[in-house]
Amino acid sequence: MFLMRLIVLLVIVAVLLWLLKRLFSPDSEPQRLEAQSSEDMRQCKYCGVHVPESSAVVRDEETYCCAEHAELDRQ
Ligand SMILES: [Zn+2]
Repeated sequence: MFLMRLIVLLVIVAVLLWLLKRLFSPDSEPQRLEAQSSEDMRQCKYCGVHVPESSAVVRDEETYCCAEHAELDRQ
């Protein structure tokens, strides 16, 4: 049982260290914004909203912001 307690303690310490590391290095946000802005933008055929290519819905070679608009445009 001693080994079990030791493992649990090590896991708790590891989680605490990870949380502290995250608190003191908030530098992951700008990288995400940079990646988003360099992405190709597509315009929704239904509402005209611009969406990143990765989150755009393509149907019948037309681009939409969501599956709902792709469905609405078809009707
Ligand atoms: Zn739309």
